Amino acid sequence: MLMKINATTDLYALLGNPVSHSLGPAMHNAVFSHLGYDGVYLAFNVIDIGQAISSVRALGIKGVSITIPHKVGVMPFLDEIEADALKIGAVNTVTNNRGILTGYNTDCAGALRALSEQAGINGKDVVILGAGGAARAIGFGIISRGGRLTIANRTRDRGQALADDLKAVFCPLAEVHHAACQILINTTPVGMTPDIREMPVAKSFLKKYMLVMDIVYNPLKTRLLREAEDAGSRVVDGVSMFVYQGAVQSELWTGQKAPVRLMRRVVIDRLKMNS
Ligand code: NAP
Repeated sequence: MLMKINATTDLYALLGNPVSHSLGPAMHNAVFSHLGYDGVYLAFNVIDIGQAISSVRALGIKGVSITIPHKVGVMPFLDEIEADALKIGAVNTVTNNRGILTGYNTDCAGALRALSEQAGINGKDVVILGAGGAARAIGFGIISRGGRLTIANRTRDRGQALADDLKAVFCPLAEVHHAACQILINTTPVGMTPDIREMPVAKSFLKKYMLVMDIVYNPLKTRLLREAEDAGSRVVDGVSMFVYQGAVQSELWTGQKAPVRLMRRVVIDRLKMNS
């Protein structure tokens, strides 16, 4: 792929800290190559997001992914923020259209697309475990699609604050089994490599969910998903959300339909290589 880089190649970047284990470069470069698009995507470890955005302008970088810890901090440095990203209060994607930088949140759209492949959301009772940035983006999407939402979090103040913002119900994480819900979404890191035997809820309570989604994607099938499947639930893995949020990014940048099957294959291959 490097052989194709020339003086007209468009540059795209991931800005975050840390970025060394990111799957974004493998996924987006595979998309550019598949589409025959003259672009390259690189990862940058960024401490000062304001300076990094000045560089995006100075160098004419065509599009940017934003990851931890800059999804909120990047917002004041942009020219425009799309309405849903503004309501969510976080940006994970930036387009550069003739020098105008616009921020989007594709985590929300990516999670909803992954979820809605398996179940409708309108009228469903959904519980989200966790109250961080991912919970906020997904929770906003659930509410806007007509779902009824409970936020279950370890730290009461943080969980209650997010529930209040989203007009959802709060429940302490330890009491999540009391919440009458059909869909459970884990947005905590519990179960992620290397702690793959951990689960955010007890196995005995999983029977009641028609659908369980885990946004942790390493391992691909977390213990939560394996136990939920054994209990008879449908499951959605974290790679689905990752791929769909990347697909929306790529479509914003290139204007072309993203090859999601290829993207999923590339991400899973890369996860296997890293493990
Ligand atoms: P975050 O803002 O740091 O929030 C993490 C949340 O998890 C907090 O509510 C925290 O609870 C809770 N938590 C952390 N450790 C816990 C534990 N041991 N037991 C119970 N709760 C715990 O993180 P984030 O940005 O929302 O990301 C969360 C996870 O989602 C990460 O693993 C990230 O890699 C993954 N993610 C995946 C995708 C994808 O595309 N698949 C996209 C975004 C993020 P407290 O409030 O009590 O601390």
